[in-house]
Amino acid sequence: MSESFLIRGATLPTGERADLLLQGGRIADVGSVTDAAAATVVDAEGLIALPGLVDLHTHLREPGYEQSETVLTGTQAAAAGGFTAVFAMANTSPVADTAGVVEQELSLGEAAGYATVQPIGAVTVGLRGEQLAELGAMAASRARVRVFSDDGFCVFDPLLMRRALEYVKAFDGVIAQHAQEPRLTQGAQMNEGALSGELGLAGWPAVAEESIIARDVLLAEHVGSRLHVCHVSTAGSVEVIRWAKARGIDVTAEVTPHHLLLTEELIAGRGDGAAPVAAYDPRFKVNPPLRRREDVEALRAALADGTIDIVATDHAPHPVEAKECEWDAAANGMVGLESALSVVQHAMVDTGLIGWADVARVLSAAPARIGRITGHGEPVAAGSAAELTLVDPAATEAFGTERLAGRSVNSPYLGRTLPGRVVATFHRGVPTVLDGVLRPADEVAAASARAARGGVA
Ligand SMILES: [Zn+2]
Repeated sequence: MSESFLIRGATLPTGERADLLLQGGRIADVGSVTDAAAATVVDAEGLIALPGLVDLHTHLREPGYEQSETVLTGTQAAAAGGFTAVFAMANTSPVADTAGVVEQELSLGEAAGYATVQPIGAVTVGLRGEQLAELGAMAASRARVRVFSDDGFCVFDPLLMRRALEYVKAFDGVIAQHAQEPRLTQGAQMNEGALSGELGLAGWPAVAEESIIARDVLLAEHVGSRLHVCHVSTAGSVEVIRWAKARGIDVTAEVTPHHLLLTEELIAGRGDGAAPVAAYDPRFKVNPPLRRREDVEALRAALADGTIDIVATDHAPHPVEAKECEWDAAANGMVGLESALSVVQHAMVDTGLIGWADVARVLSAAPARIGRITGHGEPVAAGSAAELTLVDPAATEAFGTERLAGRSVNSPYLGRTLPGRVVATFHRGVPTVLDGVLRPADEVAAASARAARGGVA
């Protein structure tokens, strides 16, 4: 296959139509391209060209939990979903709390070639919340870590949180907090409210999230550092973040696709008409939990008005046995890379809340900026890195397991009709998905290695 691609008749996020020439790892030309005889032509009639998507919150599970996902299968899921970069959470085994582990993660991503894998470093040793990890060594390593998170756990100790915020200022880092007051959520199983009472499940109160966010924005202000709030899930959290931003505090926030669409009603087996559901289906068990319809509306409004900066998947693969069991025993988490763009189109674009230029911002430009990576999140314009996704917004189909490219199948969307389909993904100018089909691992690895040797991106 040729190493240059002429994408004919794509629609840019701005709405203009243009041809795109990908060559030498860059978008070499945009407009009416006539001089590209050697290029492979891709017909993009009716397709939207987005900058390659960037996920600030992915669980890749390797090293340690390869039965759920590996760096290879996780980045295949990413490519299938239109992502060209993923930030890999630190809760692997061993935990990514040293320069050695984050460099290993980086190397596994480079070898696979499907997407940039940017490691996130743990805030505390072993995620135990007792002493700070080697933040400086991870920042100075080949992995250039800038995002630090104990995700899965909250950095609960206020003194440790303050020190972490202070420490990362030296290299423009950010602490990404999983906001969950542990004492208020002991044994918690679902959102606390009338429905948790009815179902007899231990409640997970909104205040357990909101109180930590309130504390942390004040700590960030006090030490003049940068805070990122993971998976915001309640209307009250939105109010706290809105207040902090108005005050000038350097805080950014993410929302997951599932919190933009799904509600706690699903746990009671009350579907929204989109797909049949059974009560207590562990596919809907997630941390933070699915909340009320009012929370979903507040999160959508906050993403539309910029209070919430980005969408991040919190892609959390689990083996079948961790999900096909009693609700109380089931693991928290959902896979999300392959479905994210469709859910965002459904919840935000097709509802008229945001346009495709906003999608490019919340799923590419802003996460790349918050995570301080280069070569991603650039506009679809001449000179930008050839990180690109072509999506067919008119496609409408039931979301089935054939859409899942990762190793786990714990998707809450199976059987649900969703709009939009990724037709092609290019990483460093190399197609990882073409004609809606994931390219084989050996071809992608070889082409990606050639692109890297060419010194591009
Ligand atoms: Zn989390």
